Amino acid sequence: MMQLFMPLNFLGFVYREIKGSLANIEKMFLLLERKEQITDNQDATDLTIKQPSIEFRNVDFAYNKERPILQDVSFTIHPKQKVAVVGSSGAGKSTLVKVLFRFYDVNNGQVFIDGQDTKTVTQTSLRENIGIVPQDTVLFNDTIFENIRYGKPTATDDEVWKAIKMAHLNDFVNSLPDGKDSKVGERGLKLSGGEKQRVAIARVLLKAPSILVFDEATSSLDSGSEQAILKSLREIAEGHTSLVIAHRLSTIVDADQIVVMEQGRVVEVGNHKTLLEAEGRYYHLWKMQNDKL
Ligand code: ADP
Ligand code: MG
Repeated sequence: MMQLFMPLNFLGFVYREIKGSLANIEKMFLLLERKEQITDNQDATDLTIKQPSIEFRNVDFAYNKERPILQDVSFTIHPKQKVAVVGSSGAGKSTLVKVLFRFYDVNNGQVFIDGQDTKTVTQTSLRENIGIVPQDTVLFNDTIFENIRYGKPTATDDEVWKAIKMAHLNDFVNSLPDGKDSKVGERGLKLSGGEKQRVAIARVLLKAPSILVFDEATSSLDSGSEQAILKSLREIAEGHTSLVIAHRLSTIVDADQIVVMEQGRVVEVGNHKTLLEAEGRYYHLWKMQNDKL
């Protein structure tokens, strides 16, 4: 969901902005993504989650009026379920995520989290309750340790170490020239795609939200690192409600529900087995990916 080529000095600016005020990773997406200001309702309340469910109900959305993107999208993620959204590039999958975070308001329909319309809750509380592992993790020009603490700026060192271990990053961190104080990012060490992804996972673990979103979190990895990351992702998704945007279908065969999107519409919903049996769009996507092997 991030542009690949963002001016680094702009990121630096964003980082300072965020560190100085309300620090969370989503605020950064917000600053980078959003053109129009979305404001809280005057009577907005904080989102309170007892049962972390998500419902898209008849959602229409367009970035520009002339070109509808999401059209009549409806599906529900029950508490602690893992739901995957698949479909060709440009189908509107990342847009779903942006709408869920309310980086944009829907034009029609509603998005509910635990029964609360996201338009009626404060944006801060909404974003506090959702953690995202994005496709391209942004590292700031700071130490590896601070880059991870970024998931929860008030975290103690012990908490950060715990997240590092859970994300299987401790060997890596300890192997760095200055250990946890090694500089990474713009003027520091370059991390591989897999290492950056683990940083994102550690941030999310530290934040400990009840809802997790993975937007093609492993698509840029080779299959060796992908398997390792998928294992970590499965571990952290346990006990959470998760929305997984997937490119490679082989990574989501275990999802409770798979939503197939095409040109902004939901064209099929089922699990891996029922969708294969239906021999529809999913079946064809599956055949295409597996014939390539
Ligand atoms: P996917 O994640 O399924 O590949 P996206 O949700 O990123 O698809 O994009 C859906 C469509 O919306 C694409 O045609 C894309 O070009 C368009 N789009 C995405 N972001 C923007 C934006 N910020 N402004 C205008 N159009 C956009
Ligand atoms: Mg996308």
